[in-house]
Amino acid sequence: MACYSACKTGAISITTDCKGFYIPEVNSELCLNCDKCKIVCPSLNELSGSSDFQQQTFACWHKDEKIRMISTSGGVFSGLVRYVLSKQGVAFGVRFDDEFRAVYEEADNLKKLKYFRGSKYIQSYVGDVYKTVKQRLENNVIVLFTGTPCQNAGLRSYLGKAYDNLITVDIICHSVPSPLVFSDYIEYIRKTIDSDITEINFRYKKPSWTVYSMRIDFRSRKPYIADYFTDPYLIGFSKDYFSRDCCYECKYTKLNRQSDITIADFWGYVSDDRRYRNDEKGISLVLINSEKGSKVFSAISAAYIVRQKSIQEVMKNKSLYTPYKKNPLSDDFWKEYLEHRDFELVKNKYFYKRRGSLKHRLSRFIDDYSFLIPKRLRKFYERLKDELKRRSKGE
Ligand SMILES: Cc1cc2nc3c(=O)[nH]c(=O)nc-3n(C[C@H](O)[C@H](O)[C@H](O)COP(=O)(O)OP(=O)(O)OC[C@H]3O[C@@H](n4cnc5c(N)ncnc54)[C@H](O)[C@@H]3O)c2cc1C
Ligand code: SF4
Ligand code: SF4
Repeated sequence: MACYSACKTGAISITTDCKGFYIPEVNSELCLNCDKCKIVCPSLNELSGSSDFQQQTFACWHKDEKIRMISTSGGVFSGLVRYVLSKQGVAFGVRFDDEFRAVYEEADNLKKLKYFRGSKYIQSYVGDVYKTVKQRLENNVIVLFTGTPCQNAGLRSYLGKAYDNLITVDIICHSVPSPLVFSDYIEYIRKTIDSDITEINFRYKKPSWTVYSMRIDFRSRKPYIADYFTDPYLIGFSKDYFSRDCCYECKYTKLNRQSDITIADFWGYVSDDRRYRNDEKGISLVLINSEKGSKVFSAISAAYIVRQKSIQEVMKNKSLYTPYKKNPLSDDFWKEYLEHRDFELVKNKYFYKRRGSLKHRLSRFIDDYSFLIPKRLRKFYERLKDELKRRSKGE
């Protein structure tokens, strides 16, 4: 948090609200009313304006299939970490601690990379990471910082100036769910399976990258694997029941980004060329937002299959520019949840199993096999889809 990092008197601490989200708390007895915390707060201030740089847009995936399969999307993050470490730099990313809380950590060697891999769909704990980043930058160490757009904005605002040795990477961000709900969910799974949890993967690529699963490994039982139509936590997250309220009005969800490079899933990827079809092992979307980002991406590109894409194709990923709407039942869910703290109860009432609609499955099938469809027919299909979408919105 920028305010927590900027306060020189220690008046701000990080605590949790009743829904388990990390928030700053001010101790008025230690506060000098200097307003530094307000000056650096990205929520209270205008974001920095757009640059002249012409954004570049790519789809890409790692040539090493093993790296690709253990990464969330196409594995761009792994290449970026390798790049900074090869320059004696350090990388900051998010890992699980012993209690499966998502926390920031610094890596100066490749051993830690495996802990950062994998999206953890919960709000992560920033702690003192901005201060550590600043120390490294001042000592002329090359730093790679990855995080949500608001975490990137917080860092930039706290630093207050540009550093040549800082590479910033943001993810396209749906929202961050409640750490409280997540900890109750894993406790529910632990009790049901009756064994200690050893690993959690929110994006296990079975049956595929697009229809991913929650996978939880145990000390003495077979893994729990449930796809996103079935797993109650993934349903609750994707249906926007328990994310932070501010995420539903996120001001960072737009094309003008807070970083040098933006990474995400290339949802809706299509290819005319069979060699570059979606083979369901994971495809990254990459937005290059600055000269520095372009230089770094060129330096890692040899390890990847890279396909240039148009901004229209990239914009199939709606999380890039439209905040998700809060579920109309979210307030009911929270009321009941905070009253009973019973995951099984809310699971049965709100997060029950769904089936993917036929339309959804058909659309995915057509995208994946589009290289078999003649170009003109495909264009006709795209136009028809847009028209139907417009009509369903009543435009
Ligand atoms: C909360 C969240 C929501 C997301 N929403 C979308 C979305 O709506 N659409 C989309 O296309 N992509 C989304 N992503 C991004 C996507 O899931 C991948 O993280 C991204 O494509 C990188 O993939 P990779 O294969 O390069 O990375 P991997 O090698 O899997 O690395 C994962 C990266 O995510 C970071 N990370 C993991 N958990 C967190 C966390 N809780 N907070 C901050 N950073 C974290 C790690 O530090 C690492 O940099 C989201 C990610 C997160 C964490
Ligand atoms: S006003 Fe100054 S002293 Fe008070 S909490 Fe903010 S930064 Fe700290
Ligand atoms: S949706 Fe916006 S406010 Fe919420 S975590 Fe992501 S970037 Fe931050």
